[in-house]
Amino acid sequence: MSLKSYLKSYLYSYKFRMLTMLCFIASMTSTVAVANINTLKAELKPYQKLTRQELANKVINHPNIGLSKLHTNGIKDSATPYLNVVDFGKGRPSKLSSYGRAPGGTTEISEVLLQVMLALANRGFKFRITEIAGGQHSFSSRHYLGLAFDINELNSRPVNNRNPYYKRFMALCRKLGATEVLGPGDADHSNHIHLAWPRSLVNQHNSSSNSNS
Ligand SMILES: [Zn+2]
Repeated sequence: MSLKSYLKSYLYSYKFRMLTMLCFIASMTSTVAVANINTLKAELKPYQKLTRQELANKVINHPNIGLSKLHTNGIKDSATPYLNVVDFGKGRPSKLSSYGRAPGGTTEISEVLLQVMLALANRGFKFRITEIAGGQHSFSSRHYLGLAFDINELNSRPVNNRNPYYKRFMALCRKLGATEVLGPGDADHSNHIHLAWPRSLVNQHNSSSNSNS
C-alpha cells in the first residue's frame, strides 16, 4: 500500500468514525431532550383525568394562583381571567373583551392552560394571571383562541427584570409545552410574562370535546 492510499483509507475511516460518533451523540442528546419534555409533560397527566368543573375549581381555589377580576386598565367585563375560568368550568365558551382592539365574542379555552397553571402552582410558583381570553392583544393573538395567558406578579413580586424567579419560571413553561414565552427583556413585556401554547391544540380540543358530547 502506498503512503497516499494508506492516508486516504485512514482519512475515510477517521471520517467514518467521527460521523458515527456524531450520530451517536446527536441521538443521545435528542433522546435526553425528549425524555425531559415527556417527564415534564407527564406532570400534566394527573390533571387530564379531571372534569372541566374539577379543573376550574382547583385553579380558582389554589392558594398560589391569582385570577384577576378586572383588566389591568381597570375595566371590569365578563372576560376577566376569573370569569373565563368560571365559564370554562361550567362547560361554556369563555368571553373575549369587546373594547379597543379586542374583537368580542367567545372562545374555548384549552384545558392545557389550566393543567399548566396547576403544575406551576404545585411546583411552588405563586402567580397572578392578568389575562386569558379577555383584554386587548395583537391582531392574531393566541389569547383570542384560548391558548395564552399573562402574569404580572410572580412569587409576590411584580414581574420585571429584577424579579429573581422569572427566568426559571419561563424556562419551566417552555418545558410544559409553551411555544411563545415572552417576558422582561422582550419588547413590550417588561412588566408581564406572556405564555402561549401551539395553535394545533385548538383542533385537539375541538375533537376531544366532540367525543365527550
Ligand atoms: Zn399575552
